[in-house]
Amino acid sequence: MRRNRRVKIIATLGPASGSPEMIEKLFDAGVDVFRINMSHSRPPHDGPKKLHAAIRAAEAKFRRPIGILCDLQGPKFRVGDIGGGKVDLAQGATFRFDQTESEGSATRAFLPHPQIFQAIEPGHILLLDDGKIRMQVIDRKPGIIDAKVIVAGALASRKGVSMPDTLLPIDPLTEKDKVDLDFALRLGVDWVALSFVQRGEDVRIARTMIGDRAAIMSKIEKPSAITDLDDVIAASDALMVARGDLGVELPVERVPILQKLITRKSRAAGKPVVIATQMLESMITSPVPTRAEVSDVATAVFDGADAIMLSAESAVGEYPLEAIGMMNRIAIEVESDPTYDQLVHATSTPPQATGADAIAAATHAVADTLKLAAIICYTATGSTALRVARERPNLPVIGLTPVLATARRLAVVWGMHCVLTGDPENQADMVRKACRVAYDEGFCKAGEGVVITAGVPIGSPGATNMIRIAYLDDKGAPVAEGR
Ligand code: PEP
Repeated sequence: MRRNRRVKIIATLGPASGSPEMIEKLFDAGVDVFRINMSHSRPPHDGPKKLHAAIRAAEAKFRRPIGILCDLQGPKFRVGDIGGGKVDLAQGATFRFDQTESEGSATRAFLPHPQIFQAIEPGHILLLDDGKIRMQVIDRKPGIIDAKVIVAGALASRKGVSMPDTLLPIDPLTEKDKVDLDFALRLGVDWVALSFVQRGEDVRIARTMIGDRAAIMSKIEKPSAITDLDDVIAASDALMVARGDLGVELPVERVPILQKLITRKSRAAGKPVVIATQMLESMITSPVPTRAEVSDVATAVFDGADAIMLSAESAVGEYPLEAIGMMNRIAIEVESDPTYDQLVHATSTPPQATGADAIAAATHAVADTLKLAAIICYTATGSTALRVARERPNLPVIGLTPVLATARRLAVVWGMHCVLTGDPENQADMVRKACRVAYDEGFCKAGEGVVITAGVPIGSPGATNMIRIAYLDDKGAPVAEGR
Protein backbone atom coordinates (compact mmCIF):
# COMPACT_ATOMS: atom_id res chain seq x y z
CA MET A 1 0.00 0.00 0.00
CA ARG A 2 1.27 3.46 -0.85
CA ARG A 3 -0.06 6.97 -0.35
CA ASN A 4 -0.55 9.37 -3.24
CA ARG A 5 0.71 12.38 -1.32
CA ARG A 6 3.89 13.56 0.38
CA VAL A 7 2.48 15.36 3.45
CA LYS A 8 1.61 12.97 6.29
CA ILE A 9 -1.61 12.83 8.31
CA ILE A 10 -1.76 12.46 12.10
CA ALA A 11 -5.08 11.59 13.75
CA THR A 12 -5.79 11.88 17.46
CA LEU A 13 -7.60 8.86 18.85
CA GLY A 14 -10.51 9.12 21.27
CA PRO A 15 -14.01 7.80 21.90
CA ALA A 16 -15.01 8.41 18.26
CA SER A 17 -12.12 6.46 16.82
CA GLY A 18 -10.56 4.08 19.36
CA SER A 19 -12.04 0.73 18.30
CA PRO A 20 -9.76 -1.68 16.41
CA GLU A 21 -12.15 -1.63 13.42
CA MET A 22 -12.12 2.17 13.29
CA ILE A 23 -8.33 2.34 13.60
CA GLU A 24 -8.05 0.05 10.57
CA LYS A 25 -10.51 2.18 8.63
CA LEU A 26 -8.69 5.38 9.56
CA PHE A 27 -5.36 3.95 8.45
CA ASP A 28 -6.93 2.80 5.20
CA ALA A 29 -8.38 6.29 4.70
CA GLY A 30 -4.97 7.91 5.07
CA VAL A 31 -3.66 8.14 8.65
CA ASP A 32 0.12 7.74 8.90
CA VAL A 33 0.57 8.40 12.62
CA PHE A 34 -1.89 7.96 15.49
CA ARG A 35 -1.77 10.37 18.44
CA ILE A 36 -2.66 9.22 21.93
CA ASN A 37 -3.41 12.19 24.18
CA MET A 38 -2.32 11.41 27.75
CA SER A 39 -4.27 14.40 29.19
CA HIS A 40 -7.30 12.12 29.36
CA SER A 41 -5.63 9.04 30.82
CA ARG A 42 -4.69 7.91 34.33
CA PRO A 43 -2.93 4.71 35.53
CA PRO A 44 -3.42 1.85 34.88
CA HIS A 45 -3.89 3.39 31.41
CA ASP A 46 -6.18 0.69 30.05
CA GLY A 47 -7.35 3.01 27.24
CA PRO A 48 -3.90 3.75 25.76
CA LYS A 49 -2.94 0.06 26.13
CA LYS A 50 -5.91 -0.97 23.97
CA LEU A 51 -5.20 1.76 21.39
CA HIS A 52 -1.57 0.71 21.17
CA ALA A 53 -2.51 -2.95 20.66
CA ALA A 54 -5.05 -2.04 17.97
CA ILE A 55 -2.54 0.15 16.08
CA ARG A 56 0.10 -2.57 16.14
CA ALA A 57 -2.51 -5.08 14.93
CA ALA A 58 -3.41 -2.76 12.01
CA GLU A 59 0.29 -2.41 11.27
CA ALA A 60 0.63 -6.19 11.03
CA LYS A 61 -2.51 -6.49 8.91
CA PHE A 62 -1.55 -3.77 6.39
CA ARG A 63 2.17 -4.63 6.58
CA ARG A 64 3.05 -0.95 6.71
CA PRO A 65 4.92 0.79 9.56
CA ILE A 66 2.59 3.08 11.56
CA GLY A 67 3.82 5.77 13.94
CA ILE A 68 2.44 6.23 17.46
CA LEU A 69 2.72 9.69 19.03
CA CYS A 70 2.18 9.88 22.78
CA ASP A 71 1.29 13.44 23.76
CA LEU A 72 2.11 14.27 27.40
CA GLN A 73 -0.18 16.73 29.16
CA GLY A 74 2.62 18.95 30.49
CA PRO A 75 2.25 21.60 33.17
CA LYS A 76 -1.38 22.80 33.16
CA PHE A 77 -2.28 25.34 35.85
CA ARG A 78 -5.76 25.73 37.30
CA VAL A 79 -7.52 27.91 39.89
CA GLY A 80 -9.19 26.13 42.85
CA ASP A 81 -12.93 25.74 43.41
CA ILE A 82 -15.20 28.76 43.25
CA GLY A 83 -18.16 29.13 45.66
CA GLY A 84 -21.39 28.38 43.74
CA GLY A 85 -19.40 26.97 40.81
CA LYS A 86 -18.68 30.33 39.16
CA VAL A 87 -18.54 34.11 39.64
CA ASP A 88 -18.77 37.09 37.29
CA LEU A 89 -15.64 39.23 37.22
CA ALA A 90 -16.22 42.85 36.19
CA GLN A 91 -13.85 44.86 34.04
CA GLY A 92 -11.56 47.09 36.12
CA ALA A 93 -12.10 45.07 39.32
CA THR A 94 -9.13 43.92 41.42
CA PHE A 95 -8.83 40.18 41.91
CA ARG A 96 -6.52 38.33 44.31
CA PHE A 97 -4.89 34.91 43.85
CA ASP A 98 -3.63 33.39 47.10
CA GLN A 99 -2.51 30.15 48.65
CA THR A 100 -5.43 29.74 51.05
CA GLU A 101 -7.16 26.48 50.25
CA SER A 102 -10.79 27.64 50.43
CA GLU A 103 -13.55 28.32 47.91
CA GLY A 104 -13.04 31.40 45.76
CA SER A 105 -15.36 34.42 45.41
CA ALA A 106 -15.77 37.51 43.21
CA THR A 107 -12.64 38.98 44.83
CA ARG A 108 -10.23 36.05 45.30
CA ALA A 109 -9.33 32.47 44.35
CA PHE A 110 -6.96 29.74 45.48
CA LEU A 111 -4.06 29.18 43.07
CA PRO A 112 -2.37 25.90 44.07
CA HIS A 113 0.91 26.50 42.20
CA PRO A 114 3.65 28.12 44.37
CA GLN A 115 5.98 28.44 41.32
CA ILE A 116 3.68 31.07 39.81
CA PHE A 117 3.96 33.24 42.96
CA GLN A 118 7.76 33.08 42.68
CA ALA A 119 8.05 34.00 39.03
CA ILE A 120 5.26 36.39 38.12
CA GLU A 121 5.97 40.14 38.05
CA PRO A 122 3.80 43.28 38.09
CA GLY A 123 2.75 44.06 34.51
CA HIS A 124 2.56 40.36 33.49
CA ILE A 125 -0.66 39.06 31.96
CA LEU A 126 -2.80 36.26 33.45
CA LEU A 127 -5.22 34.46 31.12
CA LEU A 128 -8.05 32.37 32.50
CA ASP A 129 -10.34 29.87 30.81
CA ASP A 130 -8.53 29.64 27.45
CA GLY A 131 -7.91 33.37 27.42
CA LYS A 132 -11.56 34.37 27.81
CA ILE A 133 -10.70 36.37 30.94
CA ARG A 134 -7.62 38.61 30.87
CA MET A 135 -5.94 40.19 33.90
CA GLN A 136 -2.79 42.20 34.51
CA VAL A 137 -0.71 41.78 37.66
CA ILE A 138 -0.57 44.98 39.73
CA ASP A 139 1.22 43.66 42.82
CA ARG A 140 2.92 40.54 44.10
CA LYS A 141 3.64 39.80 47.78
CA PRO A 142 4.66 36.46 49.36
CA GLY A 143 1.76 34.07 48.62
CA ILE A 144 -0.37 36.81 47.01
CA ILE A 145 -0.89 38.09 43.47
CA ASP A 146 -3.19 41.08 42.94
CA ALA A 147 -4.42 41.60 39.40
CA LYS A 148 -6.73 43.96 37.54
CA VAL A 149 -9.45 42.49 35.31
CA ILE A 150 -8.89 43.80 31.78
CA VAL A 151 -11.32 41.55 29.90
CA ALA A 152 -14.29 40.54 32.06
CA GLY A 153 -16.02 37.16 32.16
CA ALA A 154 -17.40 34.38 34.35
CA LEU A 155 -14.73 32.44 36.24
CA ALA A 156 -15.70 28.85 36.99
CA SER A 157 -14.08 26.32 39.35
CA ARG A 158 -10.82 24.71 38.20
CA LYS A 159 -10.47 26.74 35.02
CA GLY A 160 -7.03 26.87 33.38
CA VAL A 161 -4.60 29.74 33.99
CA SER A 162 -1.75 30.72 31.69
CA MET A 163 0.94 33.35 32.03
CA PRO A 164 2.33 34.21 28.60
CA ASP A 165 4.98 36.66 29.91
CA THR A 166 6.27 34.55 32.79
CA LEU A 167 9.18 32.12 32.49
CA LEU A 168 8.25 29.55 35.10
CA PRO A 169 10.90 27.76 37.18
CA ILE A 170 9.31 24.36 36.58
CA ASP A 171 10.36 20.91 35.48
CA PRO A 172 9.41 20.31 31.84
CA LEU A 173 7.71 17.09 32.97
CA THR A 174 5.17 17.04 35.81
CA GLU A 175 4.83 14.05 38.15
CA LYS A 176 1.88 12.87 36.02
CA ASP A 177 3.98 13.24 32.86
CA LYS A 178 6.77 11.14 34.38
CA VAL A 179 4.36 8.33 35.27
CA ASP A 180 2.70 8.53 31.82
CA LEU A 181 6.08 8.63 30.07
CA ASP A 182 7.36 5.59 31.92
CA PHE A 183 4.20 3.73 30.93
CA ALA A 184 4.41 4.85 27.28
CA LEU A 185 8.07 3.94 26.90
CA ARG A 186 7.48 0.50 28.37
CA LEU A 187 4.52 0.04 26.03
CA GLY A 188 6.63 1.15 23.05
CA VAL A 189 5.68 4.42 21.37
CA ASP A 190 7.64 6.05 18.56
CA TRP A 191 7.25 9.74 19.38
CA VAL A 192 6.73 11.60 22.64
CA ALA A 193 5.22 15.09 22.36
CA LEU A 194 6.25 17.52 25.09
CA SER A 195 3.62 20.15 25.96
CA PHE A 196 4.39 23.74 26.99
CA VAL A 197 8.11 23.55 26.25
CA GLN A 198 9.69 26.82 27.37
CA ARG A 199 13.36 26.43 26.37
CA GLY A 200 15.72 24.12 24.51
CA GLU A 201 17.01 23.05 27.92
CA ASP A 202 13.55 21.58 28.75
CA VAL A 203 13.92 19.22 25.79
CA ARG A 204 17.42 18.19 26.87
CA ILE A 205 16.15 17.43 30.38
CA ALA A 206 13.34 15.30 28.91
CA ARG A 207 15.86 13.49 26.74
CA THR A 208 17.83 12.38 29.79
CA MET A 209 14.67 10.47 30.77
CA ILE A 210 13.66 9.27 27.29
CA GLY A 211 17.08 8.44 25.87
CA ASP A 212 16.74 6.87 22.45
CA ARG A 213 13.63 4.89 23.37
CA ALA A 214 11.43 7.41 21.49
CA ALA A 215 11.94 10.53 19.42
CA ILE A 216 10.92 13.90 20.91
CA MET A 217 8.43 16.29 19.32
CA SER A 218 8.30 19.70 21.01
CA LYS A 219 4.96 21.47 20.96
CA ILE A 220 5.42 25.17 20.35
CA GLU A 221 2.68 26.90 22.31
CA LYS A 222 4.50 29.28 24.71
CA PRO A 223 5.92 32.71 23.89
CA SER A 224 9.13 31.67 25.70
CA ALA A 225 9.54 28.76 23.24
CA ILE A 226 9.33 31.29 20.40
CA THR A 227 12.00 33.43 22.08
CA ASP A 228 14.25 30.36 22.35
CA LEU A 229 13.04 28.82 19.07
CA ASP A 230 16.43 28.09 17.51
CA ASP A 231 17.59 26.17 20.58
CA VAL A 232 14.24 24.36 20.94
CA ILE A 233 14.53 23.22 17.32
CA ALA A 234 18.16 22.20 17.80
CA ALA A 235 17.29 20.12 20.88
CA SER A 236 14.17 18.44 19.39
CA ASP A 237 13.64 15.66 16.85
CA ALA A 238 10.47 17.32 15.53
CA LEU A 239 8.23 20.32 16.19
CA MET A 240 4.49 20.78 16.45
CA VAL A 241 2.83 24.13 15.85
CA ALA A 242 0.26 23.69 18.66
CA ARG A 243 -2.01 26.45 17.46
CA GLY A 244 -4.63 25.94 20.19
CA ASP A 245 -2.57 27.06 23.17
CA LEU A 246 -0.33 29.25 21.03
CA GLY A 247 -3.42 31.29 20.17
CA VAL A 248 -4.28 31.61 23.86
CA GLU A 249 -0.84 32.68 25.01
CA LEU A 250 -0.27 35.05 22.09
CA PRO A 251 -2.70 37.18 20.08
CA VAL A 252 -4.42 34.84 17.59
CA GLU A 253 -3.49 37.11 14.71
CA ARG A 254 0.15 36.19 15.32
CA VAL A 255 -0.49 32.45 14.92
CA PRO A 256 -0.25 32.36 11.07
CA ILE A 257 3.02 34.29 11.10
CA LEU A 258 4.48 32.04 13.79
CA GLN A 259 3.25 28.97 11.92
CA LYS A 260 5.24 30.11 8.88
CA LEU A 261 8.30 30.96 11.00
CA ILE A 262 8.32 27.61 12.83
CA THR A 263 7.73 25.71 9.58
CA ARG A 264 10.52 27.57 7.79
CA LYS A 265 13.06 27.14 10.59
CA SER A 266 12.20 23.49 11.21
CA ARG A 267 12.47 22.69 7.52
CA ALA A 268 15.79 24.48 7.28
CA ALA A 269 17.06 22.42 10.21
CA GLY A 270 15.75 19.19 8.64
CA LYS A 271 13.41 18.55 11.59
CA PRO A 272 9.87 17.33 10.81
CA VAL A 273 7.19 19.94 11.52
CA VAL A 274 3.53 19.25 12.24
CA ILE A 275 0.69 21.76 11.88
CA ALA A 276 -1.99 21.07 14.49
CA THR A 277 -5.36 22.11 15.84
CA GLN A 278 -8.64 23.26 14.36
CA MET A 279 -7.60 22.28 10.84
CA LEU A 280 -11.08 20.93 10.06
CA GLU A 281 -12.78 21.99 13.30
CA SER A 282 -16.28 22.30 11.85
CA MET A 283 -16.11 18.62 10.85
CA ILE A 284 -16.56 17.74 14.53
CA THR A 285 -20.27 18.17 13.82
CA SER A 286 -20.52 18.57 10.04
CA PRO A 287 -19.63 16.16 7.22
CA VAL A 288 -18.37 19.10 5.15
CA PRO A 289 -15.66 21.58 6.25
CA THR A 290 -15.76 25.34 5.81
CA ARG A 291 -13.96 26.73 2.78
CA ALA A 292 -11.63 28.59 5.14
CA GLU A 293 -10.60 25.30 6.80
CA VAL A 294 -9.87 23.74 3.42
CA SER A 295 -7.68 26.74 2.64
CA ASP A 296 -5.92 26.39 5.98
CA VAL A 297 -5.04 22.74 5.30
CA ALA A 298 -3.91 23.67 1.78
CA THR A 299 -1.66 26.42 3.14
CA ALA A 300 0.13 23.98 5.45
CA VAL A 301 0.67 21.62 2.50
CA PHE A 302 1.94 24.42 0.23
CA ASP A 303 4.31 25.49 3.03
CA GLY A 304 5.90 22.03 2.90
CA ALA A 305 4.95 20.96 6.44
CA ASP A 306 5.78 17.33 7.13
CA ALA A 307 2.42 16.51 8.64
CA ILE A 308 -1.04 17.91 9.29
CA MET A 309 -2.96 16.84 12.36
CA LEU A 310 -6.55 16.28 13.43
CA SER A 311 -7.45 16.60 17.12
CA ALA A 312 -11.09 16.69 18.25
CA GLU A 313 -12.22 16.03 14.66
CA SER A 314 -10.95 12.45 14.85
CA ALA A 315 -11.01 11.96 18.65
CA VAL A 316 -14.56 12.97 19.51
CA GLY A 317 -16.10 14.21 16.27
CA GLU A 318 -19.05 12.74 14.44
CA TYR A 319 -17.14 12.36 11.15
CA PRO A 320 -13.60 11.07 11.79
CA LEU A 321 -13.38 9.09 8.55
CA GLU A 322 -14.76 11.92 6.49
CA ALA A 323 -12.23 14.31 8.08
CA ILE A 324 -9.31 12.03 7.16
CA GLY A 325 -10.70 11.57 3.65
CA MET A 326 -11.04 15.32 3.27
CA MET A 327 -7.46 16.00 4.44
CA ASN A 328 -6.21 13.31 2.09
CA ARG A 329 -8.05 14.80 -0.89
CA ILE A 330 -6.94 18.37 -0.13
CA ALA A 331 -3.31 17.22 0.11
CA ILE A 332 -3.47 15.27 -3.16
CA GLU A 333 -5.12 18.19 -4.95
CA VAL A 334 -2.55 20.72 -3.67
CA GLU A 335 0.43 18.51 -4.39
CA SER A 336 -0.69 17.92 -7.96
CA ASP A 337 -1.08 21.63 -8.65
CA PRO A 338 1.63 22.93 -11.01
CA THR A 339 2.54 25.71 -8.54
CA TYR A 340 3.15 23.28 -5.64
CA ASP A 341 6.77 22.53 -6.45
CA GLN A 342 7.67 26.16 -6.82
CA LEU A 343 5.92 27.11 -3.56
CA VAL A 344 7.39 24.25 -1.55
CA HIS A 345 10.85 25.25 -2.70
CA ALA A 346 10.23 28.92 -1.87
CA THR A 347 11.60 27.93 1.55
CA SER A 348 15.23 27.63 0.71
CA THR A 349 17.08 24.78 2.40
CA PRO A 350 20.67 24.98 1.17
CA PRO A 351 22.71 21.96 2.18
CA GLN A 352 24.70 22.23 5.39
CA ALA A 353 28.38 21.33 5.34
CA THR A 354 27.99 17.65 6.21
CA GLY A 355 28.54 14.50 4.18
CA ALA A 356 24.88 13.49 4.60
CA ASP A 357 23.64 16.85 3.26
CA ALA A 358 26.04 16.85 0.36
CA ILE A 359 24.89 13.34 -0.59
CA ALA A 360 21.20 14.29 -0.16
CA ALA A 361 21.57 17.36 -2.41
CA ALA A 362 23.55 15.42 -4.98
CA THR A 363 20.98 12.61 -4.98
CA HIS A 364 18.21 15.10 -5.67
CA ALA A 365 20.22 16.67 -8.50
CA VAL A 366 20.99 13.26 -10.05
CA ALA A 367 17.32 12.23 -9.88
CA ASP A 368 16.21 15.53 -11.42
CA THR A 369 18.80 15.52 -14.19
CA LEU A 370 18.13 11.92 -15.23
CA LYS A 371 14.35 12.11 -14.63
CA LEU A 372 14.55 9.05 -12.39
CA ALA A 373 11.49 7.41 -10.83
CA ALA A 374 12.49 7.31 -7.14
CA ILE A 375 15.15 8.04 -4.56
CA ILE A 376 15.95 5.09 -2.34
CA CYS A 377 17.90 5.55 0.86
CA TYR A 378 19.23 2.91 3.14
CA THR A 379 18.84 4.33 6.61
CA ALA A 380 19.51 2.73 10.00
CA THR A 381 18.81 5.62 12.37
CA GLY A 382 16.68 7.64 9.91
CA SER A 383 19.14 10.52 9.75
CA THR A 384 19.95 10.07 6.04
CA ALA A 385 16.26 9.81 5.21
CA LEU A 386 15.63 13.08 7.06
CA ARG A 387 18.32 14.88 5.10
CA VAL A 388 16.87 13.60 1.83
CA ALA A 389 13.33 14.62 2.85
CA ARG A 390 14.68 18.05 3.82
CA GLU A 391 15.37 18.61 0.11
CA ARG A 392 11.64 18.06 -0.63
CA PRO A 393 12.52 16.21 -3.87
CA ASN A 394 9.81 16.08 -6.51
CA LEU A 395 9.87 12.28 -6.82
CA PRO A 396 9.05 9.48 -4.39
CA VAL A 397 11.51 8.75 -1.58
CA ILE A 398 11.75 5.19 -0.30
CA GLY A 399 13.50 4.57 3.01
CA LEU A 400 14.88 1.08 3.39
CA THR A 401 15.73 0.14 6.95
CA PRO A 402 16.35 -3.00 8.96
CA VAL A 403 15.14 -1.15 12.10
CA LEU A 404 11.38 -1.24 12.71
CA ALA A 405 11.56 1.68 15.18
CA THR A 406 13.18 3.82 12.46
CA ALA A 407 10.47 2.95 9.93
CA ARG A 408 7.78 3.88 12.46
CA ARG A 409 9.42 7.19 13.39
CA LEU A 410 9.81 8.12 9.75
CA ALA A 411 6.04 7.74 9.26
CA VAL A 412 5.76 11.42 10.23
CA VAL A 413 8.31 12.62 7.67
CA TRP A 414 7.36 14.36 4.42
CA GLY A 415 7.34 12.07 1.40
CA MET A 416 8.96 9.12 3.17
CA HIS A 417 7.70 5.65 2.25
CA CYS A 418 9.54 3.22 4.51
CA VAL A 419 10.02 -0.46 3.90
CA LEU A 420 11.63 -2.91 6.32
CA THR A 421 14.44 -4.87 4.79
CA GLY A 422 17.37 -6.87 6.05
CA ASP A 423 20.88 -5.43 5.79
CA PRO A 424 22.18 -6.16 2.27
CA GLU A 425 25.12 -8.53 2.06
CA ASN A 426 27.14 -6.40 -0.35
CA GLN A 427 26.72 -3.53 -2.81
CA ALA A 428 25.26 -5.70 -5.58
CA ASP A 429 22.69 -7.09 -3.13
CA MET A 430 21.93 -3.54 -2.01
CA VAL A 431 21.11 -2.44 -5.56
CA ARG A 432 19.08 -5.61 -6.17
CA LYS A 433 17.00 -5.13 -3.01
CA ALA A 434 16.42 -1.44 -3.72
CA CYS A 435 15.22 -2.13 -7.28
CA ARG A 436 12.98 -4.98 -6.12
CA VAL A 437 11.23 -2.78 -3.54
CA ALA A 438 10.79 0.11 -5.99
CA TYR A 439 9.29 -2.30 -8.54
CA ASP A 440 7.10 -4.33 -6.16
CA GLU A 441 5.70 -1.26 -4.42
CA GLY A 442 4.79 0.34 -7.74
CA PHE A 443 7.25 3.26 -7.68
CA CYS A 444 9.26 2.22 -10.71
CA LYS A 445 8.47 0.39 -13.96
CA ALA A 446 10.72 -1.57 -16.32
CA GLY A 447 13.11 0.79 -18.10
CA GLU A 448 12.89 3.47 -15.40
CA GLY A 449 15.73 4.33 -13.09
CA VAL A 450 16.31 4.95 -9.39
CA VAL A 451 19.05 6.59 -7.40
CA ILE A 452 20.23 4.82 -4.27
CA THR A 453 22.09 6.28 -1.28
CA ALA A 454 23.73 4.31 1.50
CA GLY A 455 26.55 4.24 3.96
CA VAL A 456 29.32 1.90 2.92
CA PRO A 457 30.37 -0.35 4.59
CA ILE A 458 26.72 -1.41 4.83
CA GLY A 459 25.13 -1.16 8.26
CA SER A 460 27.31 1.68 9.53
CA PRO A 461 24.82 4.26 10.87
CA GLY A 462 25.51 7.92 10.11
CA ALA A 463 28.06 7.20 7.36
CA THR A 464 26.08 7.99 4.20
CA ASN A 465 28.74 8.27 1.55
CA MET A 466 27.50 6.53 -1.59
CA ILE A 467 25.23 7.24 -4.56
CA ARG A 468 24.33 4.61 -7.16
CA ILE A 469 22.11 4.86 -10.22
CA ALA A 470 20.25 1.75 -11.38
CA TYR A 471 17.76 1.01 -14.15
CA LEU A 472 15.19 -1.74 -13.88
CA ASP A 473 14.58 -4.61 -16.29
CA ASP A 474 11.12 -6.03 -16.96
CA LYS A 475 11.31 -8.24 -13.84
CA GLY A 476 12.31 -5.44 -11.47
CA ALA A 477 15.99 -6.44 -11.38
CA PRO A 478 18.80 -3.97 -12.05
CA VAL A 479 20.19 -3.96 -15.58
CA ALA A 480 23.92 -3.48 -16.07
CA GLU A 481 25.54 -0.29 -14.72
CA GLY A 482 24.05 3.12 -15.57
CA ARG A 483 23.03 4.44 -18.98
C1 PEP B 1 -2.66 22.71 20.93
O1 PEP B 1 -2.72 23.40 21.94
O2 PEP B 1 -2.83 23.15 19.78
C2 PEP B 1 -2.34 21.28 21.07
C3 PEP B 1 -2.10 20.51 20.01
O3 PEP B 1 -2.25 20.76 22.31
P1 PEP B 1 -3.44 20.07 23.14
O4 PEP B 1 -4.30 19.38 22.13
O5 PEP B 1 -2.76 19.14 24.07
O6 PEP B 1 -4.13 21.19 23.80
